[in-house]
Amino acid sequence: AQNAREALYIVSQYAAGFFSEQLWNGSEGRAVGLSYFKERGFREDIIRKFELGYSPDSWDALINASKAAGHREAYLESTGLVVKNEKGKLYDRFRGRVMFPIHNFTGRVIGFGGRTLKTDKNVPKYVNSPESDIYHKSNVLYGLYHAKKAIRDLDNCYLVEGYADVLSAHQAGVENVVASSGTSLTTEQIRLIGRFTQNVTMLYDGDAAGIKASLRGLDMILEEGLNVKVLNFPDGHDPDSYMHLVGAGAFKHYIENNRKDFILFKADTLLKEAGNDPIKRAGIIRDIVESIAKIPDNIKASVFIRECSHLLQVEERILLTELNSMRAAKF
Ligand code: ATP
Ligand code: MN
Ligand code: MN
Ligand code: MN
Repeated sequence: AQNAREALYIVSQYAAGFFSEQLWNGSEGRAVGLSYFKERGFREDIIRKFELGYSPDSWDALINASKAAGHREAYLESTGLVVKNEKGKLYDRFRGRVMFPIHNFTGRVIGFGGRTLKTDKNVPKYVNSPESDIYHKSNVLYGLYHAKKAIRDLDNCYLVEGYADVLSAHQAGVENVVASSGTSLTTEQIRLIGRFTQNVTMLYDGDAAGIKASLRGLDMILEEGLNVKVLNFPDGHDPDSYMHLVGAGAFKHYIENNRKDFILFKADTLLKEAGNDPIKRAGIIRDIVESIAKIPDNIKASVFIRECSHLLQVEERILLTELNSMRAAKF
């Protein structure tokens, strides 16, 4: 089994090299893929650092090149890079897409995300490698290999949604960043971050889906005993679009100065919807205490109860009673 896995790593690395070669030296890759990245404002050093590539718009470009290089079809198929149709014929999964290799935290390529260049709403924006013996998407954070040193050194991890968000953060000089990319955040991903730091800052998209995912994610992070702050971007921006809008310096300044602790984030987000309705406000207070109840450490929880009491002008004693009954219900 060890040898079979090794073969999958080797064929994945080969494919990353092939896609990269196409991007930099293929005529279609340069004209379509490289110019796409350039139009989005990505610098060459960032494109190289993340080994970005291009898959030609063909059914068999990768298969043919791989076979010529001596790789076995069975391994290509096990990685999901090629797919078998009903007639048993193999074809390339990724066609006419810009390619983002996904590395494990030791730096080996284990899968790919491919972005379409079309604006057609019927074409899925991203196609990702399927699960394989080397790629388990719930255990992977995109960018961790390139971020882990900075995460340790700065004792904080920025968590974003997508591939482009990771690239843009690096381009702005922010290297302690990983993406949950595609899956909703999992407990395994949070534990992976926990090996490097106890402090997470969520930088999800500023649209409704991103805000909803932040609320869900912060509860999961609290449950794992990590500290979480949240930051949102104006006007539905994501970190990538915001970085390109305001520039590297202003982006860095923004993310360093606008993070909110989770209580303030929840209060701001939920109160915006509730307005002055007292019943709704009571519901929000309960909702925030529910998040605090997820924190395993009692002392930390009591500090947040105090903050919540000040912020929402509710007696601490009442919040503590509520907290204790929620905790009792949990066990
Ligand atoms: P871009 O900036 O390239 O348009 P994005 O990262 O902002 O992309 P979102 O729609 O915000 O795209 O999605 C966030 C992440 O979710 C993507 O980077 C990708 O990892 C994943 N994702 C998005 N759409 C799909 C899809 N159709 N299938 C699988 N994963 C997807
Ligand atoms: Mn989104
Ligand atoms: Mn986005
Ligand atoms: Mn985006």
